[in-house]
Amino acid sequence: ESANLNKEIASSVKAAVRVRPLSKNEEHDLCQTCVDVQRATNEIILANSTAFTFDHVFLPDTTQDDVYRECIYDMIEGCFQGYSASILAYGQTGSGKTFTMGSGIEYSDPTKEGILPRAIMHIFQRCASYEREAELKDIALSKCVVSCQFIEIYNENIYDLFNKENIDFRSQKNSDKHVVFENSNGEIAVTNITTRFVTTAHETLDCLKEGALSRTTAATRMNSVSSRSHAIFTVNLQFERVVPSVATSNPSLREQIRAKIHFVDLAGSESLKRTGATGQRAKEGISINSGLLVLGNVISILGDPLKKGAHVPYRDSKLTRLLQDSLGGNSRTLMIACISPVDRDFSETKSTLNYAQRAR
Ligand code: ADP
Ligand code: MG
Repeated sequence: ESANLNKEIASSVKAAVRVRPLSKNEEHDLCQTCVDVQRATNEIILANSTAFTFDHVFLPDTTQDDVYRECIYDMIEGCFQGYSASILAYGQTGSGKTFTMGSGIEYSDPTKEGILPRAIMHIFQRCASYEREAELKDIALSKCVVSCQFIEIYNENIYDLFNKENIDFRSQKNSDKHVVFENSNGEIAVTNITTRFVTTAHETLDCLKEGALSRTTAATRMNSVSSRSHAIFTVNLQFERVVPSVATSNPSLREQIRAKIHFVDLAGSESLKRTGATGQRAKEGISINSGLLVLGNVISILGDPLKKGAHVPYRDSKLTRLLQDSLGGNSRTLMIACISPVDRDFSETKSTLNYAQRAR
């Protein structure tokens, strides 16, 4: 029995690796690649020597749809059974995190849309079919309630991407405006954060677009803040369902189901390094690192059945504190490590593979 339990816990944290294609510039520069992908064994082989095994591996020509179907679809379905989910994109700047996770940017080619817009469509389709089914069976259930939040963590400060006045990265005046706390339901929440209640996929995509825009164009922003900050788009889902007959003999008993899904576009993993930092960069280095560092520690404990019962250092960073109730436990976590195939990125790629390896 305990072996089964361990297996279940171990499988709630998964790691995928996606290799991006060569860019036009890299092709032009005749860059060599140093990454081989073995789909059959889920292996990544680095520089013809070191092999790393993951739960999923994706080739440069893997489509967005392939990624969604292979590792996201079931997580979103699980949310309708009450399992929360966290999907995190990890990797150096330029490795494909934002492309994979999806942003508010609309592509003329819809096959390029990333995880987020697909998940949003999926969630609302599922809500609609849920409500239709209840109607057909003539069961009176309240409608699904969907809301979203969009925040950014930079230098261990939290910013509300739905509140434009609030995104001044040069000032510390907002640094204690948003505090992570545990509410009376035992859920993790953040003070003073805008919650948008949404009723259609279109409306939700507009929210995503708005937040992504204030992330990249806020006039007061310093250069490349976005590569050193974590962006977290959260969807809260609440609905009512008839308690399954295996759990009760009363066929009209209702229960409220809640699930939370975090879509996290992490800071570039190169910011884990402290070396070479000067000036502002050095000042930031002290805390930028902590989110990724602590996340690695938390996920490696959650993913290791032998460490069951060990202290999980959620409180050591804002990022992990915020994700606390959606990592481990009844939640499913997927880390998608994005890597460049180019040999000049070898050492970043190696450290990304090592980091992601700890998640299994
Ligand atoms: P990051 O967010 O990690 O800094 P991006 O997602 O912005 O990286 O990707 C860098 C560039 O590479 C972008 O122009 C993006 O469109 C492209 N790219 C990344 N991954 C892929 C992929 N799997 N297929 C095609 N283009 C990709
Ligand atoms: Mg990005």
